Amino acid sequence: TRANRILPAPRCRSQLEGTKFFATASIGAAVFPDDAGSALELVSNADTALYEAKDAGRNRLGRFRREMLVAAQRRAQLERDLRRALAAGGLEVHYQPQFDCASGRLLGVEALLRWRHPEHGPIGPDEFIPIAEDSGLIVELGAWVLEQACRDAIALGDRAGAPLGVAVNVSARQFRDHAFIQVVRDVLARTGLDGARLELELTESVLMDDVTHAVDVMHAIRRLGVRMSIDDFGTGYSSLAYLQSFPIDQLKLDRGFVRPLPQAGATLASAVIALAHGFDLAVVAEGVETEEQRAWLQSAGCDVVQGYLLGRPAPLEVLLELVAPLEGQG
Ligand code: C2E
Ligand code: CA
Ligand code: CA
Repeated sequence: TRANRILPAPRCRSQLEGTKFFATASIGAAVFPDDAGSALELVSNADTALYEAKDAGRNRLGRFRREMLVAAQRRAQLERDLRRALAAGGLEVHYQPQFDCASGRLLGVEALLRWRHPEHGPIGPDEFIPIAEDSGLIVELGAWVLEQACRDAIALGDRAGAPLGVAVNVSARQFRDHAFIQVVRDVLARTGLDGARLELELTESVLMDDVTHAVDVMHAIRRLGVRMSIDDFGTGYSSLAYLQSFPIDQLKLDRGFVRPLPQAGATLASAVIALAHGFDLAVVAEGVETEEQRAWLQSAGCDVVQGYLLGRPAPLEVLLELVAPLEGQG
């Protein structure tokens, strides 16, 4: 088709300050009169197809199908309901413990957002976070999670009698928001949490966006004493150059690298650990599900472990129970 012929046209490579950039096109196609009865509907349906093409990984042609409308309607409905849930207290933050790999000591928790939809039941963040990103709701949502997480970290630390940390996921749009640094500063001031106990988990997409801006924001965050880690390390473009340019503290080894251990994948996992340590970064392994994986990671010098083996994400009350025995250990 003609669309398939134009697709490669804008694909270009350019180089800016030593970094290569690739531009690609995504096309959404709807055909009259099969797909729509009016020009307005035709454009709207082509847009729906375009959304799908981007969602499927970009650089492709999306042909409109009726089922897409159903998916688009669900997204629109979830967006409305999510907005409502945020306003009405229908969201909850759960926490997954993170342990020092060598000593087994509890270091802190990662905050993971949970939503129980009144009709559809629990909806995973993998589904609703992208919706919140697309609609911009993530800015407000993210600020709410941040404040909740900092408050709960204080409660957890008080119960444990130790300055436990909390890691909060930050999405690209939230990080790009001009008020982001101010939000972090305000939340720390309001909750009284020491900045050093907060860690922001950034994905590679956050960093790829606008490198100069990202570096500036990260330095400002650093000045608040807040630490930063790269989440899902190894799944994205993994440009090694950014290990050099970004002021980060940790790499989170993606679950995909941990899963095959120890039977397979040891070379890759060892290499990432060595790479991180070479840059003075700590390594957190996520998705640790078996004792064999944990033991391998420990012998490989991994710093922090997190996964179902050691604790699933759970509500604050469960975590408060978990840390209580730490009391009195000094
Ligand atoms: P993530 O940041 O990579 O979080 C780790 C995910 O792995 C969580 O899924 C967690 O429940 C799951 N997990 C932890 N241990 C194990 C394990 O041993 N085995 C397996 N199979 N899975 C494990 P969850 O909670 O569904 O979150 C999915 C993603 O949604 C997160 O991935 C994160 O990218 C995003 N997310 C969650 N909460 C927030 C939030 O408050 N803000 C933002 N921006 N994103 C969030
Ligand atoms: Ca994370
Ligand atoms: Ca992750």
